[in-house]
Amino acid sequence: MGPQKTLVVMVEFTDVRLRTSIQRLEGFVNIVNNFIKTSSYGKTWLDYYIYPRVIRLPKNMAYYGGPSPGSQRGDDPLRSIEFKYQTIKLFKESSGMDITQFTHVIIVHAGGDEAVSSSPNDIWSSCMMSKGIYFLIEKYGFEAIYEELGRSDLEYQMLRDTLMHRKPNGEAYLLAGVETVAEEDMPSIMIHEFTHSMWIYDLYAYSKDGYSAGSEVGVWTNMDSGPYLDPPVDIDGWSKYLLGWIEVVEVKVDGEYTINTLDKPVEPHGIIIPINDKEYYFIHARRPVGQDSALPGPGVLVFKVNKYRSRNIEGEPYMVRFFDANPETPVECNSFRKEAIRLCETLDAPYFDHEHYSGEWRDASGRKFVINLLTEDVATEEGYYMKVTEFEEEEGIAKIRVSLDGAETPAEATITKTITGEYTETAYTTVATYGTVTETVVVTVTVKPLPPSNNIMHYLSIIIITIAIISAFLIMIFRRKRLPPPPREW
Ligand SMILES: [Zn+2]
Repeated sequence: MGPQKTLVVMVEFTDVRLRTSIQRLEGFVNIVNNFIKTSSYGKTWLDYYIYPRVIRLPKNMAYYGGPSPGSQRGDDPLRSIEFKYQTIKLFKESSGMDITQFTHVIIVHAGGDEAVSSSPNDIWSSCMMSKGIYFLIEKYGFEAIYEELGRSDLEYQMLRDTLMHRKPNGEAYLLAGVETVAEEDMPSIMIHEFTHSMWIYDLYAYSKDGYSAGSEVGVWTNMDSGPYLDPPVDIDGWSKYLLGWIEVVEVKVDGEYTINTLDKPVEPHGIIIPINDKEYYFIHARRPVGQDSALPGPGVLVFKVNKYRSRNIEGEPYMVRFFDANPETPVECNSFRKEAIRLCETLDAPYFDHEHYSGEWRDASGRKFVINLLTEDVATEEGYYMKVTEFEEEEGIAKIRVSLDGAETPAEATITKTITGEYTETAYTTVATYGTVTETVVVTVTVKPLPPSNNIMHYLSIIIITIAIISAFLIMIFRRKRLPPPPREW
């Protein structure tokens, strides 16, 4: 929350020199800042400082970016840490600045990003986040962890000296994250890595070797394939919930729950349905508006979350399983290569109400996809039942009925309306066909106003007078009836 003190450092190598200018870089950082500010509804932003001198590392680019011996791709893990460690060390030496005044560090290096260029000697953009060390420090204390890492292998020593620092008064200090991006990267990659620096994980699937194996949440988050859309897609609702930017409702009883689409600064934004101690469902709604304007369509997304995982790793329980409401479509996906099919098929993953949604969407290369959202409900393996009862795209409101015992209960509606003057509303319209004759029946409800208040007084006085006259007669009748009989012996 609040300002994120961020240091931006530019580095180059003995063989590859930086071509970007500080002005262009500042433009990029401002894009990141605006994205985070919008995504957090103004709760979080970057308070950044760009170190104006370019740091030159002592080795060539391939030294830091080349794959491990025997590997075809990726960066050698030790060299990848050394790259960050060297940069921080040289920054501290050359600037004489106190690094503990910052929470995040963004390293922008000369040359390309292997994840984009596929050139093995380029440096894979990444982020070293201190979340793991933070929890170790919470348990054992800073000094114990500092000493322990110092006694370990070289990579742990460098990891320590990259993230663990001391304030001028000797106080312990932990950076939140150190991200690496290439000068050739789009700003959306810097946003993705910065989101890691705020301790948010990737939502794509990893292979066992630690690199991307394919998509899971597709274009629906900047932590999967969203950065490649124009404009880059917002951070998903679940990650925003972890960041403390949105409010959610937890389902304890069956009912209809209303949430707002993620682009609106109105709460709540999500629904949590607990499953057990480690898992829950997370539901949120989206529409192609604002930071989400490049999305293929509107709808409700369902995540199944395992809170003890920090990645989706092939062959292991996933951190986030993304439900695809309309699997095996769009049909255009059939022409995709195997690894890209999941990404393509989740273009129409959202659930939508009974009115269904149809639209067309084009990707960055202009390919057309037909998006048909035809599914409104899902029954889970635990026996829960969820149904989108209404999706109001204009208002950005989704209503979702949740039943924990799987029963589909009818919606109970309480409608309160303040009516002035005569008011007619169409209750429903039915169309019936008898052979060649089509009959449309429109049922309307008309509400007429009560008489104005002075009329009520008029009626009221007439009523009072009438009651008075009737009472008078009744009293007379009773009087007569109650007259005592005449005395016999007068
Ligand atoms: Zn990532």
